[in-house]
Amino acid sequence: MKSSPKSNPKPYTWRKTKIIATLGPASSSKETIRELLAAGVDVFRLNMSHGTHEQHRIAIENVRHEASLRDTHAAILVDLCGPKLRVGQFENGEILLTASRNVQISCESGIGRQGLIVSQYKNLYKDVKRNERILLDDGKIELQVLSVKGKVIQCKVNYGGILKNNKGMNFPDSTISTSSFTAKDKKDVVFAVEMKVEFVALSFVRFATDVIQLKRYIKKSGSDIPIISKIEKPEAVENIAAILKESYGIMIARGDLGIELPAQKVPLIQAELINLARSYNKPVIVATQMLESMITNSRPTRAEVGDVANAALSSADAVMLSAETASGLYPVQSVKMMDSVLREVEDYQWQRGCYGDEAQLEKYSVQHSDRKAISHAVTSLARELKLQGIIVPTTTGTTAQVLAADRPTAPLLGVCTDSAICRRLALHWGVVPFEITEQVTGDWKELCKDISKRCKLARTGNTVLLVSGFNNDEALNEPVMKVMRL
Ligand code: PEP
Repeated sequence: MKSSPKSNPKPYTWRKTKIIATLGPASSSKETIRELLAAGVDVFRLNMSHGTHEQHRIAIENVRHEASLRDTHAAILVDLCGPKLRVGQFENGEILLTASRNVQISCESGIGRQGLIVSQYKNLYKDVKRNERILLDDGKIELQVLSVKGKVIQCKVNYGGILKNNKGMNFPDSTISTSSFTAKDKKDVVFAVEMKVEFVALSFVRFATDVIQLKRYIKKSGSDIPIISKIEKPEAVENIAAILKESYGIMIARGDLGIELPAQKVPLIQAELINLARSYNKPVIVATQMLESMITNSRPTRAEVGDVANAALSSADAVMLSAETASGLYPVQSVKMMDSVLREVEDYQWQRGCYGDEAQLEKYSVQHSDRKAISHAVTSLARELKLQGIIVPTTTGTTAQVLAADRPTAPLLGVCTDSAICRRLALHWGVVPFEITEQVTGDWKELCKDISKRCKLARTGNTVLLVSGFNNDEALNEPVMKVMRL
């Protein structure tokens, strides 16, 4: 076994919960990406709702360049817009909507004006009915449908405000008939494939078939990029088991979820989805408004700190920053703040000897398999033998992914010859990607010694565990587990 020159994770104060930062005008330069990596970003998100392919291409190249200078594996996640429905343009860029007054939504082409909103989605008149609510601009404005005549929807304003060009529309009471995968998404997928990014996120997933459709398109485009399904529709929550089976992982997209469903339902859905995703060995991301006030302030609110801490306590794989890093005034400080909150929580969990609520997780144990049993055993051994590390030679990443879902206390090194798989592992809770240049041929003790030395993981006399052999196809599993005293 040879370690590549790029396979030296920094000696270690590894954080378990991963950080995703959205790139945008505030953060896409080489200098800021360098600082974001130093502050602890594991995955960079590009939001296809904003920016051009050329801007995203430069951002991706900057990430790859800076990550290689740091000898680190950072993943790129391309977030597709999906069928985010939006209002069109206004003559003066905005209109004022006053409570109790009426306003029309037209599904014809044209420009809006005071009293008239033009919908970018031209079939809207077919999907909404009398008395249903229409929420505008992240739910800040609420309309109620009075009638639908031809292609014009007559509405009453329940809660008013200023409505600007292109703001989003949500329909919590209606069934919208657009596909989750739009023509723009197709172009963005081709771009993602061309750029060989690590993940594609699909917005407004409702059914497992949405994920299957995207998977087919990715395959047709010559790739197998894993899909992260964004859970932001009530239908997705209802169909979550089938969606999880088809997806690589999920993102709890609380921005839209909290508009499509009553906001008070979101915290418990979050807790349930984290446990459920773990029981399927799938990574789960908690997203949106985590440090929202840091868009304009150098310090977060105490409630935001509590939100990040809660996501770590309930054992999410990753937490995500959106506008905080994309367009905020304090992108690097936001990551540093998130990092320090996560470390504080993880220190506490370490003292307790347990990450996440294991008793709660029991009821989600949907999969009973050899590998799950071995993974449970690894987690117990880590605790009982006070393992210094779990070393996991992996080809596809599966073994590391399954073990990580059990949240073992010892650091888990995903050892792999494929740098793309190493970058993928950057998303998973507690996994430290470690790139090697040659397949491990059997001299595992040497491998363990070498890695332990390079990562300052363990000293002579310490114990590490080597685990290998899970396959995507369970029938091909050849699990191996070896306790090694160095
Ligand atoms: C969300 O709605 O929380 C989300 C992450 O999606 P987007 O930022 O694409 O609206």
